[in-house]
Amino acid sequence: MSDTTELSSRRERLIPILKEARAQAFLITALPNVRYLSGFTGSNAALLITHSRALLFTDPRYATQAPQESDCEVKIAKGPLVKDLSTWTKRLRLTSAAFEQNRISFEAYSQLQEHAPHLRLRAVAGSVEKLRMTKSPDEINAIRAAVQLNSTALQQALDRLKSSTREADLAAEIEYRMRRLGAEGTAFDTIVASGRHSALPHAHPTDAIIGRDQLLLIDMGAKVAGYSSDMTRTYVVGKPARKARRMYGAVLESQLAAIDTVKPGVTCAAVDKAARDVLRKHGMDKLFVHSTGHGLGLEIHEFPRIGRKDKTKLEVGMTITIEPGVYDEEFGGVRIEDTVVVTGNGCEILTPTDKSFTVL
Ligand code: ZN
Ligand code: ZN
Repeated sequence: MSDTTELSSRRERLIPILKEARAQAFLITALPNVRYLSGFTGSNAALLITHSRALLFTDPRYATQAPQESDCEVKIAKGPLVKDLSTWTKRLRLTSAAFEQNRISFEAYSQLQEHAPHLRLRAVAGSVEKLRMTKSPDEINAIRAAVQLNSTALQQALDRLKSSTREADLAAEIEYRMRRLGAEGTAFDTIVASGRHSALPHAHPTDAIIGRDQLLLIDMGAKVAGYSSDMTRTYVVGKPARKARRMYGAVLESQLAAIDTVKPGVTCAAVDKAARDVLRKHGMDKLFVHSTGHGLGLEIHEFPRIGRKDKTKLEVGMTITIEPGVYDEEFGGVRIEDTVVVTGNGCEILTPTDKSFTVL
């Protein structure tokens, strides 16, 4: 999906980072970053980018695929990629290289030290991830497609909900529907949590039958063309308790308030605060135990983080989730999550699924 002009312009944006790091080349080892900069989707790769060249190292399994997907010079390594890459750094007469300090294995780093003693290694963190925060129109289209597929899959799965359905059955149905609708896979393990299980923000679906007169929380995401979607909806099956309505009302108000603040120039911390302030007004802020949202794209959790401490200013083209939640161990949890894209004067909510209080 990434055309070669888009790929080369992404790599050009790395050059100022190289200057700042006082390095002649950038060694990219995080696979999503390799994909972002080279177009290559394989599971074993490293990328060496200099001012004038981009070399993609992979293994013989990808000898055909790599040149088809990538506009970089493909080098097929027989052994450890870093060993071949080190030889190339010598051939290119490089004396310094930046590397991704938080996304290189100890083994690869050790091999680099061993095979490229001529290189001064400069540790950098999060540089490519920061470039990835703002999405191109093509990337936004892929995320939009993933979000829409996700919503269709949820509807199809809910249409098949029966009184005997277990949490694990519904999770399997959702994932099956996503694949049938054309997803490459799930963006993460689907969460289906009923009753008190829903109070665990990252619950695993169990064998328990989805309870009547209880909360049902579903958090799901699909992958389309490499890009993720992420949505949470909370329902009540049967007759809702007054408490469920109260929690739902507060979370929805909080989510809408946070979405309302999203526009270019606003800090992530301000969006988080908007969500938290509403929950405080309802006396539920202590039950909100995670941040308000996160960026998403090639990975399900990307920069920026919509949390108390993130001072990143929102920019046009950022795709983020807004997902406040409240969790009561004795009762259950409510979370509502949409994916939005920052636009010139606010944001567009990509998620089409209804979020008014719904009884199944
Ligand atoms: Zn989610
Ligand atoms: Zn999320």
